[in-house]
Amino acid sequence: MKYEPIIGLEIHIQLNTKRKMFCGCSTDIWKKPANSVVCPVCLGLPGALPVPNLEAIKKVQLFGLALGCKLNTNSNFDRKHYFYPDLPKGFQISQYKKPFCYEGVLELKEGNVEIERIHLEEDTGKSIHDAKTDETLLDFNKSGMPLMELVTKPQIKSPEHAHEVALKIAELAKFLNVSNVNMERGNLRIEPSISLRPLGQEDLPNYKVELKNINSFRFMRSALKYEIKRQTKELNEGNKIPQQTRGYKESTKTTFIQRVKETDSDYRYFPEPDIPPFEFSKEYIEEINKLVPVLPSKLKEELHDKHKISTEKIDMLAKLSRVEFVINLIKAGLSAKDAVNESLGLSKGQYKEVFENLELFVQKIKDSKKHQMDDDSEILQIVKKVIKENTASVNDYKAGNINALNFLIGQVMKKSGGKANPAKAREILVNNL
Ligand SMILES: [Zn+2]
Repeated sequence: MKYEPIIGLEIHIQLNTKRKMFCGCSTDIWKKPANSVVCPVCLGLPGALPVPNLEAIKKVQLFGLALGCKLNTNSNFDRKHYFYPDLPKGFQISQYKKPFCYEGVLELKEGNVEIERIHLEEDTGKSIHDAKTDETLLDFNKSGMPLMELVTKPQIKSPEHAHEVALKIAELAKFLNVSNVNMERGNLRIEPSISLRPLGQEDLPNYKVELKNINSFRFMRSALKYEIKRQTKELNEGNKIPQQTRGYKESTKTTFIQRVKETDSDYRYFPEPDIPPFEFSKEYIEEINKLVPVLPSKLKEELHDKHKISTEKIDMLAKLSRVEFVINLIKAGLSAKDAVNESLGLSKGQYKEVFENLELFVQKIKDSKKHQMDDDSEILQIVKKVIKENTASVNDYKAGNINALNFLIGQVMKKSGGKANPAKAREILVNNL
């Protein structure tokens, strides 16, 4: 029997607000001593009252509008109950029936994917298991960090497609400056759910396997690939696949069962009594709408007018849908010219891998530029010398021997100590022969 995968994504993105979600603690917690960025509110102490962070709410609404979502004019926070040591209150403040944003769409060449909802919640603390002493330690610095959760409809058709969706969401979040999307710091976590149905069947399968807390695109892809294999085998053997939550192990590239999946009723949601419901006026929503950049056209304009990039190159970027990527590179410190050229030079595979190491990628380019001789007059001096010293090869080239040209380029590179830009060296050499 042939099956097709049905994939949906839940993407958690840590917002880059100054303060945590419901208290005055800073969000600058990276590498801070454990439990040093906490207060009674984010520690969940009895009697402490949460105060919502408007900056976080606005970021979620901006993100939603950029994805064509509708905003709920009436909204509220809810309590989601579950027991876990890193959740000191015994519940998480989240949103249930009335998320801030709903019904959007992510437009992709590989197939559009509808966004079901985007809501806001607080993050939990972190448990660290010490294998030596067999103790579990708790760090609450992350407790109360603002988390945006985006849920897509189950319309994704393959692990590759899922990668495209997650990448576009991440790029947009960075571009709109709602998050730093630093993958290494766990700013983005993906929870894909996947099930299989026989090819040709219209109905959704009657089960769903959820994969928890994946923090890289590559891991997501390989976890999904493994699940397709595993579920195909189960179904072919006539087994029923239970509703469950699984983890992913990179060392074996396999998934493993964590628990039987909870249903909504297990969470005993109810409206958060300590935070009054929200009512957003038309004027308020219009103000946020004004902040949504008219994506493609405005960006193209910016690249053309401000950064003097040719229309031809901009069209190529747009065709590859790498305009936001280029702007992110410029923001990360590349010159517009380098950002455009590097973006156009990346293969599809390379492009999909770069985002997770954007800072490293930018640094590498900067380093190579520092060392590369780009100055035409400097290269010209060397070219002239090489032509003078290698008359035999020059004559060979003129007689049609292309290998002679490669030899001459090699001489230029050698004389420049390997620093000349090879493309430029070639161009200047040919012009002078
Ligand atoms: Zn706090």
